[in-house]
Amino acid sequence: MDDPRKILSMKVSEMPGYGFDCSCGRHHSVDINRIITGTGILNQLPEAIAEFKDKTILVVADDNTVKIGGYKVKQLLDDNGFKTELLVLEYPDYPVLLPDERIVGTLLVHTTDDVGLLLGVGSGTINDLCKIVSYKMKLPFVIVGTAPSMDGYASVMAPLIVDRQKITYPAHYPYVIIEDSELLDTAPPIMKKAGFGDIIGKYTALADWRLAHKVNGDHYCDIVAEMVQSAVDKCVANLEGYFNGEAEATNIMSDTLLLTGISIGLIGYTRPASGSEHHLAHFWELDGIARGVEHPLHGNSVAMGSIASAEVYKIMRTRFEVVDSVNPPDPDMLREIYARAGMALTPMELGIDAGLFNRALNNGYRIRPRYTIFNFTKAQGMLPEIADLVTIKMCGGLA
Ligand SMILES: [Zn+2]
Ligand SMILES: [Zn+2]
Repeated sequence: MDDPRKILSMKVSEMPGYGFDCSCGRHHSVDINRIITGTGILNQLPEAIAEFKDKTILVVADDNTVKIGGYKVKQLLDDNGFKTELLVLEYPDYPVLLPDERIVGTLLVHTTDDVGLLLGVGSGTINDLCKIVSYKMKLPFVIVGTAPSMDGYASVMAPLIVDRQKITYPAHYPYVIIEDSELLDTAPPIMKKAGFGDIIGKYTALADWRLAHKVNGDHYCDIVAEMVQSAVDKCVANLEGYFNGEAEATNIMSDTLLLTGISIGLIGYTRPASGSEHHLAHFWELDGIARGVEHPLHGNSVAMGSIASAEVYKIMRTRFEVVDSVNPPDPDMLREIYARAGMALTPMELGIDAGLFNRALNNGYRIRPRYTIFNFTKAQGMLPEIADLVTIKMCGGLA
């Protein structure tokens, strides 16, 4: 048996195809074909998709990412003898592109019979759209990332908006993932912050995972948890470089976003990457979608959710030994990290008022049937009381 700890010293680009029998009792594998990361590596794209030369490649972007990378990718492929079509998705009635039925339909009708590969140039939404449509059409897809804004690049799941509800559908992995820091660095600060927030949210996700293991009997893997934890710690150590646009720090951040996506694939569900902070974020996202108003970017909501979850942990750990034993992050430690990143420290800065914040604390746990500190607090009959205490602390009052 291979040493299961070997994965802890592997680079993300070395992981595709790797599998091992783990000390947690399970077999883990990385079922991605290829990951290419680094600085100035976009020119490896033609060679990576050489087998699709006789088919049409549908390059999919939105009106923003087409300028960042879409035209460049199309030109690169055209220069190398590929047949390409460019599809620029637009969503005129809403501030941002939403991955809903309408856009899925647009992408479907443009995926004609001669298309052999979908090639998304973008981040969260473009990735999710290409992932679900290629899956339904039984075609491979490739993603060229344009922003380090979330950890869904290396994920099999595709969250879509259907009937104004956010529903996560099973799909497949990209055939190739390309993350070039030269493209990622051009992302606006708000998207860089979002990616960073999605990473720092792992502190509470991992605490929830340990709590669910101890209290609820969920499976837990020390090695995958350690892999995620050490990657997150490395991002904290490099955060100034990342926000200053240093290529090496951007690569560390981008690799960590891929790694946390991979950790979901290793375990088979989202535990290592998503806990109560994500439930709160989803609650705020759904509220915005239901009201037809723009909500904060996923990772920025996750960051706020992680402070809120850590505040709940802070109270509960003084009362319950088992909560203390899962070593939850201190909320002030998180605030200090987010302050260094120039990120929001209060819900109001993200447009979340005290009422909405409080509703999320009381009801966020219902969004996913997954055990977290909120389920624990609820089971003690303490959730409304703790939700009020945390709301008053973070919003300055209940209304
Ligand atoms: Zn394991
Ligand atoms: Zn996330």
